[in-house]
Formats: sequence, C-alpha cells, structure tokens
Amino acid sequence: MTPTTQGSAVLRQGEPYDFDFIVIGSGFGGSVSALRLVDKGYRVAVMEMGRRWTPDNLPRTSWSIHRWFWRPGLALRGFFNMRFFRHVTILHGCAVGGGSITYACTLLRPPDKVWDNGYWAGLADWKAEMPQHYDTASRMLGVTENNILGPADLLLSRAAQESGVGDTFYRTHVSIFQSPEGEPRGQTFPDPYFGGEGPERTTCNACGGCMMGCRHGAKNTLDQNYLYLAEKRGATVYPETKVVDVRPLNGQPDGSDGYAVSTVKSTAMLNRRPRRFTCRAVVFSASSLGTTELLFRLKTKGSLPRISDRLGKHIRTNSESLIGVRVPGCAQDLSKGVAIGSGVYIDEHTHIEAVRYPAGSDTMSLWTTILTGGRPGPGRIALWLKNLWSSAVRHPVKTFRLFQPFGWARETIILLCMQALDAHIDMCWERPWFWPFRKFLVSRGDKVPTYIPQANEFAQKLARLAGGTAMSMLPEILFNIPGTAHCLGGCVIADSPDNGIVDFRHRVFGYKNMYICDGSVVAANLGVNPSLTITALTERAMSFISPAAEAINNPTGLSGSACITG
Ligand SMILES: Cc1cc2nc3c(=O)[nH]c(=O)nc-3n(C[C@H](O)[C@H](O)[C@H](O)COP(=O)(O)OP(=O)(O)OC[C@H]3O[C@@H](n4cnc5c(N)ncnc54)[C@H](O)[C@@H]3O)c2cc1C
Repeated sequence: MTPTTQGSAVLRQGEPYDFDFIVIGSGFGGSVSALRLVDKGYRVAVMEMGRRWTPDNLPRTSWSIHRWFWRPGLALRGFFNMRFFRHVTILHGCAVGGGSITYACTLLRPPDKVWDNGYWAGLADWKAEMPQHYDTASRMLGVTENNILGPADLLLSRAAQESGVGDTFYRTHVSIFQSPEGEPRGQTFPDPYFGGEGPERTTCNACGGCMMGCRHGAKNTLDQNYLYLAEKRGATVYPETKVVDVRPLNGQPDGSDGYAVSTVKSTAMLNRRPRRFTCRAVVFSASSLGTTELLFRLKTKGSLPRISDRLGKHIRTNSESLIGVRVPGCAQDLSKGVAIGSGVYIDEHTHIEAVRYPAGSDTMSLWTTILTGGRPGPGRIALWLKNLWSSAVRHPVKTFRLFQPFGWARETIILLCMQALDAHIDMCWERPWFWPFRKFLVSRGDKVPTYIPQANEFAQKLARLAGGTAMSMLPEILFNIPGTAHCLGGCVIADSPDNGIVDFRHRVFGYKNMYICDGSVVAANLGVNPSLTITALTERAMSFISPAAEAINNPTGLSGSACITG
C-alpha cells in the first residue's frame, strides 16, 4: 500500500489512503454518492471543478457574464457552461452542487417503457426496483407539485386547449420550497426537510430566477440537501479543484490497490497548484460530458487503458429543441413564476414545457431569431433571411423590438420541446481539422433533428394567442445544430464491455472499486428532464455498496460481492 503524499489532513491513524472514496464532481450523481458513502462510514472527498455559490454571491442577471458563464481561461468563473459540437450545443452546470445550481429544478419520472430500451434492458428488474429510489430521491430533493402558475403557464394552457390537447396540461414537479397556496411568499423557516439537520429555507417568491441560481434560498439545490448533509456528516468538498488524472496505485492494473487522483486548481490561470490524493475507490460523477471527456483523456494517456472502447457511444439529447415566443411590450411579466412551471404533451412523443429566465436576464436573446421551418440546410437559411427581410420591411419597429435584447426575459416564453425518440450521437477523441495539435472531444453520427414541425406549429399558435412572434435558436437555423441541457450517455450501463462502460451496479468494467454515477450511465432516451432519474439511479448504485465496517479488509472489495469487474 502506498503511503499518502498530500491532502492528508483527514488521514486516520495508520491509514494508508487519504480517503476511502474520492468522488469526482458534485452534481446529482456526486452529491448522492458522497452522502450515502459517508453514511456507510467511509471517508469521502468530493473534487469539484466549479465554485461554491451562496445567495449572496450569485449574479442578479445573466448580464453579469463573469459570474454566470464558466470559461476560466477567459476569467469567467460562473456556474453555467455551453460546449459547441458539430452535432449539438450542450448546456451544463459547473459548481459545487453541479447542474443543480443552474438547473430549472423540474423533476419528473420517465415512463416505465424507458427500462425496456437500450443496453440496460433486462439487466435488472428496473420497473420493480426503481420506484423506491425515485421516492427517496424525491423526498431528499423536496419535490412538490408547482403551485405557482405564471402568465407563461396560463398561455401554454390556452394554446394546448386550442390545439385540442388541453387535457394533457400539467403543473411540473419541482424541487422548490413553496408556501401553501394563498399564503405569503418569501418567508424563512427552519429546515423543513431533514428534521432540523438541514439549512433554513425561504419560500419561493416566483421571481423566475431558478436558472440564475436562486438568490432567495427557495430552490432545493444539492448544496442544501445531499451535499449539505454529506459535508455536515464528514465529507470534505474541494471546490475549484479539477481532476486531471486517476491512476491505479502500486502498478496493479485493475486498481485493486487503490488509486492516485491528481488535481489542479481550476480557476487559476498561472499557478495551477497540482495536488495528488490517494484513495481506495473512485466514483466518477463529472456528468455525461465531463466523465466521458475525462475518461477519454485518461484512457488515451495510459492511466486507465482498460476502459472499454465503447466510451463515448450513445450520447443522447432527449431530442430537444428550444423554441419560444416573444411578445414585445407585453402587458404581463412573462418571467414571473418558477423556471419551468408547466408542460403539455402535444402528441404521444412530443412534450413541451414553458420555461423562463428572470427579468433582466436577457443575454439568451442573442441566440434567438424568428422561427423558420423547413428542411435544414441552405433552403431553410434562405427562408429565414426572407422572413427577416419581410418582417423588417413590413414592420420595422416591431422587428427592432423583437431583436433588441433588453426586456427579452420579461417578454418571452421559452418552449422546451422534448421527444422520446431514440436518436443518439457518439463522442470521439480526435484531432479536429481546424486544430491538429491536440485531441478533443468531437461528435460523430447522424444529426438529431432540430426541426420538429408539430412543435413549431404549436409555437406559432401560442404566438398568435399572445400577440407575439414565434422564435427559434439561431444555431438551429444556421448550422442545423440543436441545443440540449439534457446530455446523457457516453458511459452507458450494459451487460459487458462490448456494449458499455459500467455494469448494472455502475461498476466500471476492467477495474475494481471504480464506479460511474451520473448522467453518462443513462442508456435510453428518457423523454423527460433527467436529474431525478440520475439521483434515483445513484441511490440504487450506492445501495449495493457495503458499509465501511464490513467492506474494508474484506477481500471481496467494496461492492459486497466478489467484483465481477476485475
Ligand atoms: C440551464 C439548465 C437547466 C436545466 N434544467 C433541468 C431541469 O429542470 N430538470 C432536470 O432534470 N435537469 C435539468 N437540467 C439538466 C441537469 O442539470 C443535468 O442533467 C444534471 O445536472 C446532470 O447531473 P450529473 O450528476 O450527471 O452532472 P452535473 O450535475 O453536471 O455535475 C457534474 C459536476 O462535475 C464537475 N466536473 C466535471 N469535470 C470535472 C473534473 N474533471 N474534475 C472535477 N469536477 C468536474 C462539474 O463542474 C459539475 O459540477 C438543466 C441543465 C441546464 C444547463
């Protein structure tokens, strides 16, 4: 066993490792893992690349780019990131609490049929096992039905009625602390969720600011529940700490002697302060994109060469399309409510949610333009230019008001359209043609459709009702590239390394005491927002890990049974 090198503040007397478990990433997979492992008696560290946020340092609006957007090389140290690929633009979070800081906190259970599709089908009795984990996840995240319907939700409901699908309108389930209907908003209470062990919470004031991090303490972000409790019970969280290497210790290629985890300070431009920690076991929870990218890097440089060649396969996007309606000069403030207050099903496969940013957060307007249908390619771009031209000539003032950014959030309903169709792309680790000096993640495969005709039709109907103009995302029209906040897959659950990266208990094929718990393991298109499923899957994965007292010094390892992954 290797003696510890650095980061040894928590070393037990005579203990050969700095920590029992190192969890990489503090999002849904990482925070759940941290709490459950601490509860089982393990010494846990969580390495998180992003910063720690509190209501006091969160930005007021998205114009505060340096505190909203994450691009540390440009001194932008916020909690929201966008990554651009040939096939998709991926939106994701980066913070202590992972995507929960920026997410819209809508937590839905997918239909049972998702367990029948993809490589995970038949590997466990998912339909029987998952409900208890969804229940635990919902209780921990404080999921309730949204009781605040803002003007945007009411418009969505009217448009659904006009389209003959009014009966599918539903209020979302959200992880927000809400006051009972009719009672005053914005009141602070002692911990309402964990018998007094959790932090105090303030009821939602319907400002629509969930995606800017919630400056009022109403959104149940992970640093208010799972991660809060994990830290309180002994886990050590290292913010602004990016993991750059994970290697088996003592030349044991399967990691049975533990791992060395190397980190750098993610927000430092010059002195990156490299550190090295040792641990018995590792949980990768860096998100679908983050874990896939990190594992590609580690496989290629020889740190973890046994990772299956299926890495990066089956990245899914929920087949999302972001469209919207802007109503310049709207009498009502469409930003009021919760970030995603309601949804409708416009057909069997197509689900639309009403989304909003808080008043003043208008930067997203720079990505929106007049909705234009048609097959992707030059024809659609030509049609878009024609639409722009005719709008500018016929209604110059209206067109100006449509495109000037200020007031966008107050005047806009974003429509998040998701389809439960099984489209996917692959991520590869290659030198792109435009920068052949080093390898990057590059997307491959068939493009996920950006044009969902029935959703566009619905947006136009809603625009007519509201007296506004239907909008779509500029990259969708110009480059036929959809945007997604729900990137999943890349390290999917499967029966063998020939098909995926982890087994049905999230154990990495080829290694001992190495797990993946995040969106990357999801092996099917969920058709709904994924965080509740990631949380529930992680609860399930952690339930298989034996308590520390039983597992440490047990030759069968930490998973409670002989490792099948070695
Ligand atoms: C604007 C927006 C709105 C959304 N709204 C919803 C919603 O309403 N409902 C829903 O279900 N989902 C929503 N999502 C999606 C949701 O945020 C993600 O599905 C979820 O966070 C994924 O969980 P995860 O555990 O896989 O990873 P994440 O929560 O993304 O956490 C991964 C963490 O790992 C860290 N990390 C990455 N690489 C490293 C490294 N090398 N070293 C250290 N740390 C690292 C990252 O900084 C990040 O904090 C939204 C996303 C966005 C961007």
